[in-house]
Amino acid sequence: KGRSPGEYRLYQPSTTHLPAHQMIALERDLHRALNEDGLRLMLQPIVTADSIPGGRVTLSGVETLVRIEHPEHGVLSPDTFIPVAEASGLILPLGAWVMEQGLAWLAAATRQGLDTLTLSFNVSAREIHAGGLVERLAEGLARHALAPHRIILEVTENLMLERDEVVLETFNALRSLGCRLAIDDFGTGFSSMSYLQHLPFDIVKIDRCFVSELHTEPRQAALVAAMIEMGHALGLSVTVEGIELNEQARCCLDNGADHLQGYYFCRPVPAQEALARFITL
Ligand code: C2E
Ligand code: CA
Ligand code: CA
Ligand code: CA
Repeated sequence: KGRSPGEYRLYQPSTTHLPAHQMIALERDLHRALNEDGLRLMLQPIVTADSIPGGRVTLSGVETLVRIEHPEHGVLSPDTFIPVAEASGLILPLGAWVMEQGLAWLAAATRQGLDTLTLSFNVSAREIHAGGLVERLAEGLARHALAPHRIILEVTENLMLERDEVVLETFNALRSLGCRLAIDDFGTGFSSMSYLQHLPFDIVKIDRCFVSELHTEPRQAALVAAMIEMGHALGLSVTVEGIELNEQARCCLDNGADHLQGYYFCRPVPAQEALARFITL
């Protein structure tokens, strides 16, 4: 853990602690889901912070969240299988599937009049390092006749090497294309601050672990207020995740958060139901 300047460090995802037979089983599940139509796309709204809880909620974007529908075990959570997907390389076809489904959905939403809605994708470091992400996104946007500025790519620090040329080049290419970049789960990793310093982000998403006691714990409220202020000082837009209560939303709004996301507004919704649900939001 001790680290001298310039030294690279790799963050180990927790699933590597799973017994080998469970990793192998999950990899098999993932293969099957990819080949036999077993992936499900969920969408969760992101609302603008000027929407007053209790009043009208303004939908500003949606985040794509993937699931596996397992024939025996039901719905599998991405927290379980994404690390296996990353380790096995299956994150590449998985990410491509999510992107295509997401863009197709956004094109349909646009035809229904939701033409300013943004779409956020979670991108793994492995996808960035594999190359081709920018080209695939550009091709998909063109094919679906979508403007690049409607796309946000969310990245965490997991498995990402600091001051990595490939990461920086990819980020710059994504921004040249017109897409925006968000640092996800902000505040939970080892190097969030260093990330903000070295990489060209547009948005910070404050992790939900800072939100749970927000309305009752003055220290937590002070922390969130400081993170929002820091984001703004750096010229970034600030999203707070994991809002479950009106009081939490209120506290974030009072402290100037730009966007909010959480069960309080809406849980993730299956993509095929999302248009009907969101059009009335
Ligand atoms: P994330 O990107 O931080 O996504 C937010 C997670 O918080 C989602 O969990 C969402 O369902 C959950 N959430 C949203 N609002 C609330 C709330 O108010 N309270 C609580 N307790 N939870 C809330 P989910 O869908 O299980 O996804 C877990 C993680 O898996 C994601 O965290 C993301 O890192 C990863 N993931 C999901 N889909 C993809 C994907 O397509 N590609 C990649 N690379 N990673 C993905
Ligand atoms: Ca995310
Ligand atoms: Ca997050
Ligand atoms: Ca997360």
